[in-house]
Amino acid sequence: MKPVLALVGRPNVGKSTLFNRLTKTRDAIVADFAGLTRDRHYGNAKHGKLEFIVIDTGGFEPTAESGIYMEMAKQTRQAVAEADVVVFVVDARGGLTAQDHDIAKYLRKLGKPTVLTANKAEGMTDGVQLTEFYELGLGEVHPVSAAHGQGIRSLLEVAFESIGMSEDDDTEEDHDPTVIKLAVAGRPNVGKSTLINTWLGEERLVAFDLPGTTRDAITVPFERGGQKFELIDTAGLRRKGKVFEAIEKFSVVKTLQAIESANVVLLLLDATQGVTDQDAHIAGYILESGRAVVLALNKWDAVDAYQREQLQRQIETRLAFLKFAKLHFISAIKRQGLGPVWGAIAEAHRSATVKMSTPVLTRLLLEAVQFQQPKRAGMFRPKLRYAHQGGMNPPVIVVHGNSLEHVTESYKRFLEGRFRKEFNLVGTPLRIEMKTSK
Ligand code: GDP
Ligand code: GDP
Repeated sequence: MKPVLALVGRPNVGKSTLFNRLTKTRDAIVADFAGLTRDRHYGNAKHGKLEFIVIDTGGFEPTAESGIYMEMAKQTRQAVAEADVVVFVVDARGGLTAQDHDIAKYLRKLGKPTVLTANKAEGMTDGVQLTEFYELGLGEVHPVSAAHGQGIRSLLEVAFESIGMSEDDDTEEDHDPTVIKLAVAGRPNVGKSTLINTWLGEERLVAFDLPGTTRDAITVPFERGGQKFELIDTAGLRRKGKVFEAIEKFSVVKTLQAIESANVVLLLLDATQGVTDQDAHIAGYILESGRAVVLALNKWDAVDAYQREQLQRQIETRLAFLKFAKLHFISAIKRQGLGPVWGAIAEAHRSATVKMSTPVLTRLLLEAVQFQQPKRAGMFRPKLRYAHQGGMNPPVIVVHGNSLEHVTESYKRFLEGRFRKEFNLVGTPLRIEMKTSK
């Protein structure tokens, strides 16, 4: 599981600037998908090989007793509770305030690994200006400039060292490629535990214990029709003995971690509620993670023909960015429509882990170009030369050539369509990257 780092501090110290700096590489990928709603407070980041989740917590006033600041304080406490390490941000230019002292007191009491950083420290060559921050009783002060990107790497080094990790830790777990890691995601009450318990009660499904896993292990290995799976606990869902139980609280972090460690995510929606903002957010996280997706609209038994039609249209518009995923209509309670979902999961997994050889990709690329040339941009006409596979789950196709920065989004979509058709890719995002050779 990816470690979680929470940014905490009073308003205006530069937390969101730091957040943006930490998450910027991933943001670039997300920007390619139009119409995607994103919760700005959670993001993916990388420190060397180590991938982690960052939470930006807004302004924190631990002593606030009412209004918006109390709500923000509540959310900050939850974020801190879910974090492995806290980065407490203060303002190197503004100096210490009473609020900083309140936050420090709160964090000291909590006893969670905490790293103190003084932002806006660009141009501060000696440490003298920072000595006052030692008053906070949180040890060493680490100067950074979020705006200029200074000191970030050593801050992360210290932060991860405090939890025994480093940039050489690879969060990509090695795992048996024949086992499909499956997460069932969805907001509370869509029917996740009902569905999983229906599955686990099926005779065709054989649960087995992996050596070394405990009773409350976070995954359940099982086999169905000769295919091995590992079911991952998700937000609001915990294994209790032989059955899964829904727990009260929904946690974005747990959802993110489960999605990230899966190969395929089954996103469950509730037909009686339609697509809510929370559904769209979860769908956005799945898309960003690059995982394969199967969509299932549960409680199909509880809606009439008219509502069904409305729902289908609503999904097509609100979750348009997941149009590569197959939609299934199911009833976990009545055990209807469940068979095809297994087929779709296997198909999504095959698509996500497909192997595409350089000669075949290059031939397809050149055929596509022959069919339709990329548009000229001023003096430049992009020249697409060859392509190779750059990754799996999600599959990435890297196109090489000249002036490729002028290739339009619509041309990339055209290429994507050709590749998808040829390799019969369903249920997985496909990323196309352009590499201009100089
Ligand atoms: P937040 O409320 O803690 O999320 O703070 P913001 O990220 O919104 O930043 C507050 C202000 O500080 C903005 O005007 C930023 O441009 C500025 N700021 C952020 N980081 C730096 C920095 O490293 N140096 C300087 N000089 N200003 C910064
Ligand atoms: P979770 O929070 O996502 O795990 O949701 P639960 O599995 O606890 O289900 C929430 C509620 O929806 C329960 O009252 C279930 O009985 C009900 N439910 C689950 N699946 C279905 C279904 O297929 N049809 C109908 N009508 N109700 C369902």
